[in-house]
Amino acid sequence: MAASLDISGDFPILARQVNGQPLTYLDSAATTQKPQAVIDAIRHYYERRNANVHRAAHALAEEATAAMEDARAKVAALVGAGDARELIFTRGATEGINLVAAGLTDRLGPGDEVLITELEHHSNIVPWQMLCQRSGAALVACRVTATGEIDLSDFHAKLRPRTKLVAIGHVSNALGTVNPVAALIEAAHAQGALALIDGAQAVQHLDVDVGRLGCDFYAFSAHKLFGPTGIGALYGRAALLEELPPYQGGGEMIEHVSIERTIYNQPPYKFEAGTPNIAGAVGFGAAADYLAGLPRQALRDREAALVSQAVSRLKQIPGLRMVGEPRERVSVVSFLVDGGHPHDFGTLLDQQGIAVRTGHHCAMPLMERLGVPGTIRASFALYNSPADVERLVAGVEKAIEFV
Ligand code: PLP
Repeated sequence: MAASLDISGDFPILARQVNGQPLTYLDSAATTQKPQAVIDAIRHYYERRNANVHRAAHALAEEATAAMEDARAKVAALVGAGDARELIFTRGATEGINLVAAGLTDRLGPGDEVLITELEHHSNIVPWQMLCQRSGAALVACRVTATGEIDLSDFHAKLRPRTKLVAIGHVSNALGTVNPVAALIEAAHAQGALALIDGAQAVQHLDVDVGRLGCDFYAFSAHKLFGPTGIGALYGRAALLEELPPYQGGGEMIEHVSIERTIYNQPPYKFEAGTPNIAGAVGFGAAADYLAGLPRQALRDREAALVSQAVSRLKQIPGLRMVGEPRERVSVVSFLVDGGHPHDFGTLLDQQGIAVRTGHHCAMPLMERLGVPGTIRASFALYNSPADVERLVAGVEKAIEFV
């Protein structure tokens, strides 16, 4: 593959050693590594621009505000949001989903349903359970097939007039399954339900365009796409953001406060109480810039080839079995090896400098559905190479000798 597609040199951490071995980082579904450009942007912000935002009585405050709003526009553009006011900064995908769940409390009641799937991350399950407990609505989960795909006939059977919200992951963090979200959003709308997409695993690997998808909400995290931790974004359709009540009260989210009552600020500020993670937003904007500057399609094709290479090479190992084999997948390969606990493999691979994740991947209902206690998960990003796949395969073969 062309040398110009090797972007690993942009990520300083990838040059370090772990346990005396070169690092092979295959845990990008948990969090991606950060390019120098993002690290520099955060450092530059603190060295040159730091001030609190939106109270611009001085130059630094104006610069910090401009930097944050510039980042908002870049992140909005990254997911195709037409208007940056539809982009709320959050702590991450989890907070975005909780914000919507909290805001919908008064719209739901007994007899209503929230439809999710068995494929979801706990972040797209627990907030809806809590909403149902508060509102008296019921949580319904669509089944997943043995290959790790949404059972579409079950989805359509469970989507009915009493469904008020459909909440689905765009890409499964445990198996890499790419869900047909555009069709599912359309079906949800046809029943009069709102549609929220958990895009935590999708934005790095797919071209996301919330306008084209037609979703009502789309939640994602910066740290899964080369940005910093502690910051994410929630896209929400403008008309819905107008209607939704604020998530938290405090500074920034107000227009006017008296002791008796408060007039709230306009979206997105209505949902951003308190001093925001300004440096995080700046880093998020830098990550969006970094992504925009990459030959993304060529890199994604290369990453897809790595996933295929990993699947076919791993399958040649006696006693190894894949968990979930979705027809459309990105980034993730999940597997088990006979006679060895996933955690033992995690440790034995780590000793060889290979970072994978083991366990239930915050998807316990999916593990239960597939009848496995957990998996060994290798997840690839745009900076991985064919050599990383070969190190993984050799590492698993070596680990098998020890379990
Ligand atoms: N949804 C999915 C599919 C995820 O993979 C994750 C994180 O692993 C989340 C939601 C939660 O993201 P965060 O912890 O950044 O809020």
